[in-house]
Amino acid sequence: MAGLVQRYLDRIWREHAGCDDGQLADYIPELADVDPDGFGLALSSSDGFIYETGDAAVQFTIQSISKPFTYALALEMVGPEVVDASIGVEPSGEAFNEISVDPLSKTPKNPMINAGAIAAVALIPASSPEERFALIRDWYSAFAGRQLELDEQVYASEKATGSRNRAIGYMLQSFGVLDDDPDAVLDVYYRQCSLRVTATDLAKMGATLARGGVNPQTGRRVSNAAVVKRTLAVMVTCGMYDGAGDWVSAVGMPAKSGVGGGIVAVLPGQLGIGVYSPRLDAKGNSVRGVRVCRSLSEQLGLHFLTVARDSRATLRAVYDPEPGIRVYEAHGDLLFSGAEQVIRVADRERDAFQVAILDVSRIDDIDDAARALLSGMAEELRSDGKSGFVVDPDRSVIRADSALDASRFASVADAVDAARLWLDAARRGR
Ligand code: GLN
Repeated sequence: MAGLVQRYLDRIWREHAGCDDGQLADYIPELADVDPDGFGLALSSSDGFIYETGDAAVQFTIQSISKPFTYALALEMVGPEVVDASIGVEPSGEAFNEISVDPLSKTPKNPMINAGAIAAVALIPASSPEERFALIRDWYSAFAGRQLELDEQVYASEKATGSRNRAIGYMLQSFGVLDDDPDAVLDVYYRQCSLRVTATDLAKMGATLARGGVNPQTGRRVSNAAVVKRTLAVMVTCGMYDGAGDWVSAVGMPAKSGVGGGIVAVLPGQLGIGVYSPRLDAKGNSVRGVRVCRSLSEQLGLHFLTVARDSRATLRAVYDPEPGIRVYEAHGDLLFSGAEQVIRVADRERDAFQVAILDVSRIDDIDDAARALLSGMAEELRSDGKSGFVVDPDRSVIRADSALDASRFASVADAVDAARLWLDAARRGR
């Protein structure tokens, strides 16, 4: 049954697989050299369950997706007052590599453009570039739940071709934003951009942000919740460069892209998404990455203004009224991630029951994505030689004209009666 969600992702992946719009980044040979058709998608639930499709295990360099994470580390280590004195939080409307500062404050406009990202590196307290890079690498690795490796070739090329970033570094020094030697700061910036990740790593890093700083797989608190909130806020307004307004209205997930072809997107409280597809649009965002995020948001109802409430408390009770019959009682708002949780739990426990009864009589709200997943659950159970009934007095899940209408009951007692008859018939049939 967990296959239901997998099939959704596979379908969305297939919808975009044929698209070859956009160009590989070519400012360094290593980025121009990758397979342009590489395309991976991964999703991590807020409890750390991973779905992957396509080239989710292919490694690529994190590039600008590093920016929110270094910003978070700076917030964590030196606090918001010190960070705010050096880096603003206003969308710039400029290219990521613009050589600019805010005209009034003379500080970088935000941490998602290169100027702000380089300033953020300089805020990490350390006595050497090596120590600073080690702090950054360990920090990202804790979000990903594995030790990330440096791509030495990309690092060497970034360093050799970094005139524009050097211009930014020296400009920041002239305005007093950088106290340290700009070249030493830039060296760490090039290294952080050259760390290798997969779409799955990005999904896990996103899920850690979604969980307010706790990595759902390792269970470790990586960052404090206030830091995560500020980081996500800046990702909402500045994460996708000057496409922020369009991104927030169409996708509605805090996100960050990188010229290596990656995008991380976060649905707070619910999930993390990682996409890899290296052909970029004119702004430097992955073309298919942006489209996949749009489709996921539309088809699965993942806009953060839709999903304002936390759905982790979805499964309120699970009990067996009789042997072989298990009731799953859902509460609250049942949206994609809540439905995903329900079918995953039922799937994990499938050997423990013959009939599953899903009680949705106490849910407040349900959307189309959740409705489709839950109706699919009944079919999956049937094809597995089991049965599924739904307690759905208000027809939240099962419509009058649906083929599943016969599986719908007004109360748990009625559903248990029907389940008992079904079990008797099944036993006689054997
Ligand atoms: N290393 C690149 C740079 O600093 C990262 C840019 C990006 O991913 N947008 O130019």
